[in-house]
Amino acid sequence: MLWPTRSPADIRATLTAVAVAATLTAALAAQSPFAKPHELPADRMAGTAAVSIEDCKKWLFTLASPEFEGRQTGQPGFQKAAEFVSAHFQKLGLEARGENGTFYQTVPWSVTKVVPENSYLEFQRAGAEPLRIPADRLAGNVVGNSSAEGEVVFLVVESPAAPADGQRFRVPKIPGLADLAVEGKVVVAYVKPARDGLPSALGRLAVTQSLQGKGAAAVLFAQQEQPAGGLRGRSSASRRAGNPAVAGAGRVPSDLAFGGTDLTTMLKLGGAEAAVLEGTAMTPTITLRAKFEVAVQTEQAPAMNVFAVLPGSDPQLRNEYVVVGSHLDHVGTRGGLHPGADDDASGTTGVMAVAQMFVKNPNRPKRSVLFVCFAGEEDGLIGSDFFAKNCPVPLASIVGELQMDMIGRDEEENREGNRGERAEDNRTSLHLVGTQKLAPALHELCLKKNDAAAFDIEYDQEGMFGRSDHANFAKYGVPIAFFFTGLHRDYHETTDTPDKIHYEKLLRVATYVYDIAFELGVQDERPLVDPVLWQNYRGKQAKEPAAPLIGGKAASAPATEGGK
Ligand SMILES: [Zn+2]
Repeated sequence: MLWPTRSPADIRATLTAVAVAATLTAALAAQSPFAKPHELPADRMAGTAAVSIEDCKKWLFTLASPEFEGRQTGQPGFQKAAEFVSAHFQKLGLEARGENGTFYQTVPWSVTKVVPENSYLEFQRAGAEPLRIPADRLAGNVVGNSSAEGEVVFLVVESPAAPADGQRFRVPKIPGLADLAVEGKVVVAYVKPARDGLPSALGRLAVTQSLQGKGAAAVLFAQQEQPAGGLRGRSSASRRAGNPAVAGAGRVPSDLAFGGTDLTTMLKLGGAEAAVLEGTAMTPTITLRAKFEVAVQTEQAPAMNVFAVLPGSDPQLRNEYVVVGSHLDHVGTRGGLHPGADDDASGTTGVMAVAQMFVKNPNRPKRSVLFVCFAGEEDGLIGSDFFAKNCPVPLASIVGELQMDMIGRDEEENREGNRGERAEDNRTSLHLVGTQKLAPALHELCLKKNDAAAFDIEYDQEGMFGRSDHANFAKYGVPIAFFFTGLHRDYHETTDTPDKIHYEKLLRVATYVYDIAFELGVQDERPLVDPVLWQNYRGKQAKEPAAPLIGGKAASAPATEGGK
């Protein structure tokens, strides 16, 4: 029944809208580099309509926004990203199986914070008022609680020349340092400013290396201007074994520095003229003792794997899982804000898209689907390693892990290679990595599903196999597929920004992964591991693979620390 009750104006407006939509799709189709629209089987096609390019843009621009500060694990920006993805899972009504009904699995991650009131550097001289320099006038990277004291040996060192272009980098030796007696002493080194007037990092490295193994109680650096940056703790995966405080005790920061008026005051207290800083004497006479304390407190930092489950429709098969993953973190603001739009906000956008497609699709797969965005990937695949070792579902029940990491660009020449490759030649290319390592059936399925997706599949990036989270599943014999659109000039640069993302391609990769995941969720047989491939698999962490072997047996859950 076509619009009987509507006014002529109404009818005209609707007709125009439909016409515009049709032209737009035609225009888009016309612009699209892909040979054909991405048609999926009827039982899952409705889901694809639930996610638009605009949705992907909205999610990715948010994940790569300055507010999220490059999503470094352990930092507030990462916490924001975790809350963002968790809210999306919540809105979709997915099942939360994390701690206390959340979508989180906490990854042990300690942040070491300096306790300023218990951290200082003090210079003492008998009969004189000591000079105490508080923490906020010191700078350096602190690894743990540390302290040292001793007689001061003051060094004035020329800034070494940087190696000429093309010359192999070698830390220069500082003549005369090797024969200096510094056992149990506190060495205070003043490296004359380099030509650019800044404290010479190379000079400091040379001093530290030349004094290595000579038993100095500490090596500190003095400089003309007040050092910036303060005493910095660190954020890293904490090994349950160690108590960082104990491990850190006595370990002196390698780059503790002070300066500005504190240097002038120190020289005066030690009975030395400021002119010694310009002089040629390497060890001008100075009479002082030094003592410093650095106290830290270690606390759990924001580090969690964010995961959610769509339970399967079949009472039996719902105990098996298809895992769809990405990593949520990037490198933060070290050396400037790194938005990480492609690495891996694109993959996380992909996980959000696939989750929405599944939830909005009227048909539910028989097997369950687990969506997960890992922490700590940039620090060494730490979140996924923890997830696999403390898996919320038995590893043997995972029929495949589908990993999306960098799915938003067109491959081009970059710092690591691909000489001569141009983005415009790779508009439809996609790398399939690792699918031929364990379960041939999964590889076959990916190829079959590409009939509809129409990517130019490439296999020349197997070298990237170990560089994303799927590797932590494969090592236990879980079949994996890694989807990757290739490296480019903005990889791990501050220029990896959301405006450069190829959104149509990103959504098409997500739709392709949705199709593969759906098929894994409904097909009778799960992909089996080829015994010969498993036998030859390098880096395996279990005797038997978690997934069943072709020809029967295995599928026994390899012993994992936390896995049920
Ligand atoms: Zn990545």
